[in-house]
Amino acid sequence: MAVPGRKVSPGPLAGRGPVGGWRLSGVGAPAGKGGAAAPVRVRFAPSPTGSLHVGGARTALFNWLFARRHGGAFVLRIEDTDVERSREEASGWITAALSWLGLDWDEGPGRAGPYGPYFQSQRIELYRRAAQDLLERGLAYPCFCTPEELAERRDEARRMGLALRYDGRCRGLGPGERRRLEAEGRPHAVRLRVPQTGSTVVDDLIRGRVGFDHSTLDDFVLLKSDGMPTYNFACVVDDLAMRISHVIRAEEHLSNTPKQLLLYEALGQSPPLFAHVPMILAPDRSKLSKRHGATSVEEFREQGFLPQALVNYLALLGWSPPEAEEGRELFTLAELAERFSLDRVVRTAAVYDVGKLTWFNSHYLRQLDPARALELALPFFVREGLVPPDPPPEVRQRVAQAVELLRPRVRTLAEMARAGAFFFRPVTEYDREGWEKWLERPGAVELLEKARERVRSLEVFDPPAIEAAYRRLAADLGIPTPPLFHATRVAVTGSTVGPGLFDTMSLLGQRAVEERLAKAVQRLKEASGGGG
Ligand code: GLU
Repeated sequence: MAVPGRKVSPGPLAGRGPVGGWRLSGVGAPAGKGGAAAPVRVRFAPSPTGSLHVGGARTALFNWLFARRHGGAFVLRIEDTDVERSREEASGWITAALSWLGLDWDEGPGRAGPYGPYFQSQRIELYRRAAQDLLERGLAYPCFCTPEELAERRDEARRMGLALRYDGRCRGLGPGERRRLEAEGRPHAVRLRVPQTGSTVVDDLIRGRVGFDHSTLDDFVLLKSDGMPTYNFACVVDDLAMRISHVIRAEEHLSNTPKQLLLYEALGQSPPLFAHVPMILAPDRSKLSKRHGATSVEEFREQGFLPQALVNYLALLGWSPPEAEEGRELFTLAELAERFSLDRVVRTAAVYDVGKLTWFNSHYLRQLDPARALELALPFFVREGLVPPDPPPEVRQRVAQAVELLRPRVRTLAEMARAGAFFFRPVTEYDREGWEKWLERPGAVELLEKARERVRSLEVFDPPAIEAAYRRLAADLGIPTPPLFHATRVAVTGSTVGPGLFDTMSLLGQRAVEERLAKAVQRLKEASGGGG
């Protein structure tokens, strides 16, 4: 399998061999050197700080699609070395969200692979060895500056209007000085010796060539004084160790990429190819946040969105398949995987539009086969308190019928359960306008009483029989059907809208319909006759 996009020099390191003796188990020359076909290996590397957000989900999706498109591997790596921000439960939330979306990983948590473990917190030794190697080769140096000293100098730089970069104080320490400070037991970080002149060019598969002047970088930290790696360092060590061929990630990491390229160079290895995916913005073009509604996969799931809809929607957020030019928008995950290519990812930010997502969801709700629709909808009816968890067969059957009636009319599963509540509990509130218009009118009481008699007289209570009886009643009374139909709907469902009236009545059952008609009559009488 040839590596797509590996056509140009991947950066400043192309073609260079290892510089030093740095070797990690499982790390050799990166695949693909010398034009040999290299397997596609991509990774999604979330930091487990919370639930999976749409931006992260899209990054995961693009990686997954790219791996599937090229018969490669999709690796899930949990970047949990930031002890303060990482949350124990979050990796479980992230894996659950990915599984729900249908984005299965070939290697990662719960899926042992040749380059594990896949939690960075379990790979600390690897980073320390890599840092030690850079120290020995003089490409990195220990930095004894304390956080307080650094903060003080930053404040001073700020006061003087200077750049807030590390000032390189420990860069020039002689061996004797270092030994002395070490002997004093001063803790130290490890910093990369970044070239002070020149620049590094990121040759991005989406963004093109982006240059970064070394004067804008500082000697950034690889290992903190507590021995924990920084993101940039752990990321590079792991992308090498895991033989990642393409790094597809959010645009916000573009500014990290020159640092990472310098690290590949220091480690004497060729870097992977990079593709930075543009941001997702809110409709007002601000950063997408909580105030724009649901932003995490979990929230969408709870609101009754289907994974097919979310995946289809997210895939088209910043990328489009060729058929999109003819207006086609609906694609299954498998269809997306057949078509995905990085060269059709746009460079500009994508604007998030929940209306569009909702449209996709309505579509996929209608597409579900009835058994699957029931399976997905049932938890929402349970959550609304309409049916018990694990309901008996006859209740399940009723839910199944309600789902079939409601499915074409709602946009989400949560909306479905709310709209179908009247099937499972008595109506206590009525749509006010509907009540005023169809029930608070002369003759309504008599009409509903007659309707109730007809309902009671029916021997078969299926939709055709109910409809025939209703039409006959209107004809017998010499009235048009709408007042009868609308009054009945409001009385038995509480609403002016809903699935077909006769289907609805049939599913509610003869007894319930009779009772609800009687209750409406009673309410009307109470209101008009002052209770009489
Ligand atoms: N842990 C980083 C994040 O969640 C990963 C960035 C990358 O893909 O390199 O943003």
